[in-house]
Amino acid sequence: MSSVTGTAGGLRRATIAEINTVKINPTVRPELVVSGARGTHDVSNFLLIRIVTSDGVEGIGEVSATLTWSGEDSFTAERVIDAALRPALIGAPLVPVVALEERMDRVLAGNPFTKAGIATALWDAYARGLGVPLAVALGGPLRDEIRVKCSLSGNGDRLETGYRRARDAGFEAFKIKIGMDLDGDVDRLRQARDLAGPDAFIGLDANGGYDRDTARRAVQRMAEYDPAFLEQPVQPTDLAGMAAMRSLGLPIIADESVFGTADLMAVIAAGAADVISLYIGKSGGPGRALQMATLAAAAGIGVIIGSNGELGVGAAAQTQVAVAAPGLRTDIPSDIIGAHYYQQDVLDQREVFGGGLDLTGLRARIGDAPGLGVALRADLAAALGSRA
Ligand SMILES: [Mg+2]
Repeated sequence: MSSVTGTAGGLRRATIAEINTVKINPTVRPELVVSGARGTHDVSNFLLIRIVTSDGVEGIGEVSATLTWSGEDSFTAERVIDAALRPALIGAPLVPVVALEERMDRVLAGNPFTKAGIATALWDAYARGLGVPLAVALGGPLRDEIRVKCSLSGNGDRLETGYRRARDAGFEAFKIKIGMDLDGDVDRLRQARDLAGPDAFIGLDANGGYDRDTARRAVQRMAEYDPAFLEQPVQPTDLAGMAAMRSLGLPIIADESVFGTADLMAVIAAGAADVISLYIGKSGGPGRALQMATLAAAAGIGVIIGSNGELGVGAAAQTQVAVAAPGLRTDIPSDIIGAHYYQQDVLDQREVFGGGLDLTGLRARIGDAPGLGVALRADLAAALGSRA
């Protein structure tokens, strides 16, 4: 008879002892406020989460959700955690984490971004317990860094100010929001191309705002400004329309069409996209996001990592998944950008620059620190009950 010993054995015996939350309301830098066909994002009502295991290992997560996107925010998240998720998870073994994800699905319908915040904290604790970066715990990394891009919106002075701010932060790749009024959308791309120059990477995100005919006309009118991709040209449920757009000569990215695995399988069956925009939030957490990347890759579809304006904890989760994801498109920069958008981030900057996570306008890179590789600001850690 052999017995389980050492750290790994301890990790397998650990149970969930505490789940604490705190609401945060960071404001977006005015010059970088994103306006698209799904509304304007100028303040984030997000939730930070800290879990502690029975042997004292901590994990942190972030619910980066908006009412217009998934119908969730910090208020709905706190309510469903109190009513359903905390009671289901306290006392349960941390290992295997996938069983905790299933447990969350049994007690709570929907709410993927809230589940993702909890799942991120669970995966963080799991990887910290193993003493490895989350990307390693997920089976990677396949790469240490990925390229990123910045979203630009507005026209005229507003677009120019946002562009300058993004350039100052180091960004060299961009996507512009379209899908509103076609003339204004064409003007926005023309201006962005003038500002960024002929060689800059610029993609298009319509947030499902066009009908099929308008999307076709948009691509025809915008072709001379050399866009690199077209994201979610038509409404999320119009998978036949998405499939038809693939003949227009641009890679078609599905974003709002794909939340969870069932959506991904429908898009694969319909041939509705060349690339999937994966979010930790839409997927329900880092493990689920990685599973979706694997499934997409098996169907010959690439992925990028999309954004809902994540703060530093969410950005760390995005980066850890991005470097571990099979089929990540290296020619289309991802959207790991949230930390640049806010007046103040939630992270202890010494941890960020101490090797856990490295975010610039050009790239997101993981380090050697365990778990997500980041720690919260001391005031936020204290608000979440940390005694460290
Ligand atoms: Mg999008």
